[in-house]
Amino acid sequence: MNTITRRNVLKGASTLAAVSAVMGTPYLSFAAAPKQRFQSPGFYRMALGDLEITALLDGTLPLPLPEMYRDVTPENAAQLLRAAYRDIPTDTSVNAFLVNDGKRLVLIDAGTGHYLGTEAGHLVSNLEASGYKASHVDHVILTHVHTDHSGGLVRDGKAVFENATVHVPARELEFWLKMPADARPEGLNRQLFKEAKECLRPYLQRGSVQEFKDQEEVIAGFHSILRPGHTPGHSSIVIESGGRKMVFWGDITHGDIVQFEQPDVTIEFDVDRLEAVRSRKQAFAEATAEGHLVAGAHIAFPGIGNVLQDGQHFNWMPVNYADGEGGVIK
Ligand SMILES: [Zn+2]
Ligand SMILES: [Zn+2]
Repeated sequence: MNTITRRNVLKGASTLAAVSAVMGTPYLSFAAAPKQRFQSPGFYRMALGDLEITALLDGTLPLPLPEMYRDVTPENAAQLLRAAYRDIPTDTSVNAFLVNDGKRLVLIDAGTGHYLGTEAGHLVSNLEASGYKASHVDHVILTHVHTDHSGGLVRDGKAVFENATVHVPARELEFWLKMPADARPEGLNRQLFKEAKECLRPYLQRGSVQEFKDQEEVIAGFHSILRPGHTPGHSSIVIESGGRKMVFWGDITHGDIVQFEQPDVTIEFDVDRLEAVRSRKQAFAEATAEGHLVAGAHIAFPGIGNVLQDGQHFNWMPVNYADGEGGVIK
């Protein structure tokens, strides 16, 4: 009886290799593997002191950024992007962030939901891939009410985060939901006002929307800083633990190239462009002076990193990728 041993197998293999060499064609070959056109799940986990931070990708949108920026020519913006080896249109991340402080699960911004097509709207599936369920979320804090931050709150008119209280800057509620239509600044897309109401409606109906003020503790350990301009109540959220600080920027920048290189560049959605520039410069100054971590909603996923200063220009330094040691994230 012919027993198969490792040696036999190796001998067999070398014979096949010899045949294949003589024949001039590889003897062992595989059928062409079809390309697998999907990415790994969009979550990235890290610790900040005692807090667990999970960046969640809602999706990437291919945006024609040079046409969307203002206070720069499209040619100049395109040049800056190309110099940084970015394609145009530019895949632009929509990020949200989950914080587990051991007692509560807090989501900062909620992605696009079904409002911006199938390239985005993947926040809940990535949240599930990261080990949680939408029903586990206790609080959602919005940096502002734009649909790419609030769209994920609803699905078919129902609350996606069934057990959550939604915290919204008071100035945002005033602007998007309460202000009479004829008092709104001119030139703003009316659709955004309609969507703002739709996204918050199920939470308002059950009394689970809370407003927060300009510089306030939104919930214990989560502080707001008003950074207006992009929208009137646009706010960043600050957390600290173990001597480390992270600032959830919201929309201080769109992308990680042009507005870092030229902080005076604005974008078409900015409600007050001059004020948006002031807020961006303040945020950059603070991030470079303190060296704190930043989490940006539209910076390449996971959107977490630091800001470096180079005279009047700035650079984005993404967080160094870290695998957990024995599966434990530190
Ligand atoms: Zn926005
Ligand atoms: Zn946004």
